Amino acid sequence: MTAEADLVVVGAGPGGFAAALKARRMGLNVTLIEKYDMPGGVHTTGLQGSANAGVGGIHTELMAEFAAAGCIYTASEKTHPDWAGNPLSHYEKNLEPGSKFSRSSFDPEIAGRVMATMLDEAGVEVKYRTSLVEVVLDEDGNSSTIDAVIVANEAGRAAIKGKIFIDGTGSAELAAGAGAPFVRGGGPQPETADWDGENRPIPGGLLWIMSGIDFGRVAAYQKSAKDPMLSKLIEQARAAGDIPPDLYRPRMSGSGVYGDYYIGHPTLDLSPIRANGSYILWQNVPYEWKLHMDDNPEHETRADEMLRSFVEVEAQFLKKYVPGFEASTITDIGQYVGIRDGRHPVGEYVFSLEDAISGKSFPDAVTSPLTKTFYWEEFKSHTFEIPFRCFLPKTIDNMILTGASLSFTYETIFMVMRNFPWCTQTGEIAGYAAALSIEQNISPKKLVWQTPYF
Ligand SMILES: Cc1cc2nc3c(=O)[nH]c(=O)nc-3n(C[C@H](O)[C@H](O)[C@H](O)COP(=O)(O)OP(=O)(O)OC[C@H]3O[C@@H](n4cnc5c(N)ncnc54)[C@H](O)[C@@H]3O)c2cc1C
Repeated sequence: MTAEADLVVVGAGPGGFAAALKARRMGLNVTLIEKYDMPGGVHTTGLQGSANAGVGGIHTELMAEFAAAGCIYTASEKTHPDWAGNPLSHYEKNLEPGSKFSRSSFDPEIAGRVMATMLDEAGVEVKYRTSLVEVVLDEDGNSSTIDAVIVANEAGRAAIKGKIFIDGTGSAELAAGAGAPFVRGGGPQPETADWDGENRPIPGGLLWIMSGIDFGRVAAYQKSAKDPMLSKLIEQARAAGDIPPDLYRPRMSGSGVYGDYYIGHPTLDLSPIRANGSYILWQNVPYEWKLHMDDNPEHETRADEMLRSFVEVEAQFLKKYVPGFEASTITDIGQYVGIRDGRHPVGEYVFSLEDAISGKSFPDAVTSPLTKTFYWEEFKSHTFEIPFRCFLPKTIDNMILTGASLSFTYETIFMVMRNFPWCTQTGEIAGYAAALSIEQNISPKKLVWQTPYF
């Protein structure tokens, strides 16, 4: 045993970050374990720097800190005249061409540094480059408590004991390691001709950034050549052997969570980030590969190798064939292929799409009624509450879930409940719950939750 804390948080994504910060500010000794070199998870080491207006609490504070550090960049119809309605634009393609828009992003590298400083200043004990490898349990009949986590880093293995543990891994690694029940990623898929009936996880993605792009020239080419999707250039490059068959395939259409809003095939998608001329690009795993990157190392390796090769080919294609990309360079590639659909823990309550659609309310609601717009167009906006029981995994008495590892059905998490603001909010709620449990010397499962936190 090398360390002991009131609270041990595994994973420093938006959920784990906010949980650790909140609990420390409420006086707990907090140890935070993170596999990579900075906090922020998919939004920093994974490069997904999309910035939203503050939703309260730590999220609002974070957005203000990012702004103060000068790392928020806002694109609009003034900086990007041909962006709204452009089929290459990841977020704004459905807008009327030429309409007004405003999209803010933060620089992932600087944002990660800002988050690290906030943790340091609060006095959280952070261990970067340290991975959870095993969970030590005290088992007692049908329920157990976690006694310690075994972690590995350059110094070898070590045990960290705690009173409460929070799962901030984004794919419920702590819950799975503790033997808590979970549902593997994946669900019914669109009934396209090639669907073999086997559930497929919603594909993960690798994000990367290219700079030095003159989008005005790209747009001018799209118009003059009547080639909005660059299909003519893609076909030219394919004929010349410059593009492999798996790259640039038509967007999926279909029903269910994929709908028209989701790109389960590698297609060309961009969004402004960091500065004028700089764009983030998406490489998604082809959905029919059925990769479970959260629990299958061979799948993870295949995703890493293939998507990195796609990035290389895509960058070469863009530079060689597309007007406006001649002087561009790759400036960043995410440290990993991000998982969109990992394990879904089964908690004391499993929140479903039906709960959202029916506008259910709960006595242990963690927030005032939330109104969220689902990507799945037919559902539009819904107002509903989330119970604290979604934070409590079955069978483990001293663990709290957060972020993308909450007890939600897979389509609910994917459709709306996994964005940066919400993951930060749920982290803050988890940290608050941990502090109350320690203060009252009870299991989080015994907390009486009567007032929404937000
Ligand atoms: C490709 C992609 C695109 C996305 N696009 C958007 C978007 O546009 N807007 C949006 O709001 N959301 C988007 N999301 C969703 C959002 O990024 C995630 O749902 C959110 O980051 C989840 O937050 P989290 O804190 O639960 O986990 P994560 O952000 O996944 O962070 C988990 C952290 O835990 C660490 N960790 C994992 N395992 C271990 C271990 N064994 N030991 C130690 N540390 C560990 C990881 O290194 C990571 O830092 C996207 C996700 C992906 C994958």
